[in-house]
Amino acid sequence: MSYPVLAQQYVLFRDSMSEGVAELPLRAESPLTELELQSLWFAGEFGSEFTTTCGKRVAVRDFGVWNHAAGPDFTGCAVQTEAGVLKGDIELDPDVRDWERHGHATNPAYEKVALHLYLEGPEARAFSRTAGNREVMQVRLTRDMLRDGARPQLLAEARLGRCATPLREMEPARVHSLLEAAAQYRLQRKSAKLQALVKLHGREQAVYQALSAAMGYRNNQRPFTILAQRLPVKKLGKLGALEREALLFGVSGFLESVRYEDTQPDTRAYLRELWSEWWKQREQYTNWLTEVQQPVWKIGGARPGNHPQRRLGALCAMLGKWKSVYAFLKDTKTWSREGFSEALLELEHDYWNGHYTLLANPATKPLALVGGTRVQEILANVCYPLLVPESGKLWADYLELPAMLDNQKVRRAALRLFGEHPEAGSYQKRLFHQQGLLQIYEDYCLEDDSACNECPFPEKLKGWQFGATVGR
Ligand code: SF4
Repeated sequence: MSYPVLAQQYVLFRDSMSEGVAELPLRAESPLTELELQSLWFAGEFGSEFTTTCGKRVAVRDFGVWNHAAGPDFTGCAVQTEAGVLKGDIELDPDVRDWERHGHATNPAYEKVALHLYLEGPEARAFSRTAGNREVMQVRLTRDMLRDGARPQLLAEARLGRCATPLREMEPARVHSLLEAAAQYRLQRKSAKLQALVKLHGREQAVYQALSAAMGYRNNQRPFTILAQRLPVKKLGKLGALEREALLFGVSGFLESVRYEDTQPDTRAYLRELWSEWWKQREQYTNWLTEVQQPVWKIGGARPGNHPQRRLGALCAMLGKWKSVYAFLKDTKTWSREGFSEALLELEHDYWNGHYTLLANPATKPLALVGGTRVQEILANVCYPLLVPESGKLWADYLELPAMLDNQKVRRAALRLFGEHPEAGSYQKRLFHQQGLLQIYEDYCLEDDSACNECPFPEKLKGWQFGATVGR
């Protein structure tokens, strides 16, 4: 069945009530740091239309730039109010009282703030006023505003689920079509997120941001996103290769975190080059080098090849070939899956083709900067979500993509739904199978707090009537 009909059927299936099954409880969520909040805001994850604390409707027309100097968090923004467009800056604080606590009320640098965003506040109203005694519009952000994809993801227990028995009894064609429908719905959600980003920051920056996040693998997507938000591709495109790489490694904090004397001779030569440029730029970015403003890189548990320093090296290599990489994603006419994949697989970097991290010994053999699994991830999470809504015919192409190798969540989802089912292997051969599995896993397994007992999925399966549109 063609795009997007199956996705709509999946939504009907998922949102239908199942008899005798209680509504699922919401899981507790971990607090967001100020930096995460800023990044989510800048990515439009909270939306762009709001009601102020005074009950007025406002819409953010331009999210501006993420400010690296002293002053408000985002500058050069535009906010549509009932009285017209207000140009100015935006400040985001975890608590509304931070406006006073941090001295914004007396600091002339905050005079042009058009909107003060916050998450927490006391019962009694706390006003935000500038040094000139102007009242600043306030918007309280809540977690409910966040799109689903921005919420922290957990892993469900690794064990066979209650749905494994009805799935075993279902005709394989119906299981395939259910996975296809869930995959299509998942792709639509990714598309909506990308399209929102395109609307906010333009297509090229949206693509760059999404590719950067994909470079961060599972653990470091947020820090890579922050880096791409803070240093947009237009700005990086105006710099020379060394200047650009020094800026990325400097702002990421990696240059500051490594002691020269702890490194190998060839790494010292590389660091010397980067520092020769970073010194010239560093002063402008000191605000981003404080502990609170530094992205938290997750290093433990990652394979050496996925170390964020190495991934950043790969991002620098991609930026060196940006025009040819981006050319494939400009529109569906220029798209070529083979061409795009090759462009990524062929990326090279003098230092990072031979090193895992800035502190490790050189690798004994050359290392690919971007491997096949990463390319598959990028196809699944960036390219097809961007392009399929622009040409529904590409859905058929998407269905042909082979499965990704190594994905812990997919393994866990397959174990819960299929266990030792004789057809289990055939439900994991293609990328769409995996994406469908992940969607069901997120919609049901991650929402379940009852060890499967109250999960509605097994009972609902009887109601899934669609046949498969693709082979196995
Ligand atoms: S929570 Fe639901 S979907 Fe997940 S394994 Fe259990 S029964 Fe299956």
